[in-house]
Amino acid sequence: MLTKDSTFEINVSKTSSIDQVDFDNIAFGKVFSDHVFVMDYVDGEWKRGSIEPFGPMSLSPSTMALHYGQAIFEGMKAYRQEDGSVSMFRPGANITRFNRSAKRICMPEVPEDVFMQALVELVSLDEAWVPDDPQSSLYIRPFLFATDSHVGVRPSFSYKFMIFTCPVGQYYNKPVRVKVETNFTRAARGGTGAAKAAGNYAAALLPTKLAQDEGYDQLLWTDAKSHKNIEECGTMNAAFVVDGKLLVPSTSDTVLAGITRDSALTLATDLGIDVESRVISVQELEEAAEKGLLQEAFGLGTAATVSVICTIGFAEFDYDLPVIADWIIAPQIKSALDSVRLGTGEDKHGWNIPV
Ligand SMILES: *Cc1c(COP(=O)(O)O)cnc(C)c1O
Repeated sequence: MLTKDSTFEINVSKTSSIDQVDFDNIAFGKVFSDHVFVMDYVDGEWKRGSIEPFGPMSLSPSTMALHYGQAIFEGMKAYRQEDGSVSMFRPGANITRFNRSAKRICMPEVPEDVFMQALVELVSLDEAWVPDDPQSSLYIRPFLFATDSHVGVRPSFSYKFMIFTCPVGQYYNKPVRVKVETNFTRAARGGTGAAKAAGNYAAALLPTKLAQDEGYDQLLWTDAKSHKNIEECGTMNAAFVVDGKLLVPSTSDTVLAGITRDSALTLATDLGIDVESRVISVQELEEAAEKGLLQEAFGLGTAATVSVICTIGFAEFDYDLPVIADWIIAPQIKSALDSVRLGTGEDKHGWNIPV
């Protein structure tokens, strides 16, 4: 809650751009709420954070993050509850993962209590930006980057931690065509695949674009060494239904531990669905497809929640999944997730954190 003795200095924006937003047609990631949280790390410690009007900022051309990629981010959401209040979905899990990413990229961790307070104060201040429509939400983007003005590779001494938010509608609303990628690699053992490090996403752009040139929307990444096992679906975790069983690749240092994935597995187990988290080979999926047992395939991630796959491009053939209207498990997971996040169902795992 915002009080006079707020933890942070708050410079309320003199103007708001909320009137310019068409909440019935929100483009993902294009409109930003009025305020941004900013906190600097200098001389080995975090300074007091502040909430400022959202807007351009000035940086030295030699800002280290721009050259050496010392930058990480998170993505999470706040939802308008049925009773009109606002809750964030599992923010503590994002904070933990953020600090894990920070460690891997050699950056200072953000104290958990400060991080949580920043989320609560920022989202409270821009509460009007949380859409009312149940298919929409407020996307929250925390990030951290190196700010030393310096040329030469080494960890930066100074950093900037920021959080902004943006109202979002449905992410991909159409079913996606994915291609099994057996040449390029997203993440290798010992690499940074388990961290939300900015550079990971840059490395995936060209392979994705090449697949798009072939008529696909996204890639199904395979392991770097053999290219025989499925790892992720674009920037989401992958999930399949084979003969009524929910199969997901296990997390590792190459398969990022998604919070949507974890939530989906927990809810699926609650629903009595058979769940297996393990290594899943391309061959196994191909054989299931040939026998007509590959019933559903989808991506799991905060942005799109459940992103359904209509076609999988294997080396030898394109497999079209059964018509989505006949799917059972993906819709069950989506509606179970929605009912917790929107406060219409029981939150038995304590995932919602009110702001
Ligand atoms: C963020 C991300 C996910 C999904 O994580 P969520 O916590 O569910 O949003 C999956 N894979 C990659 C590579 C990601 O960056």
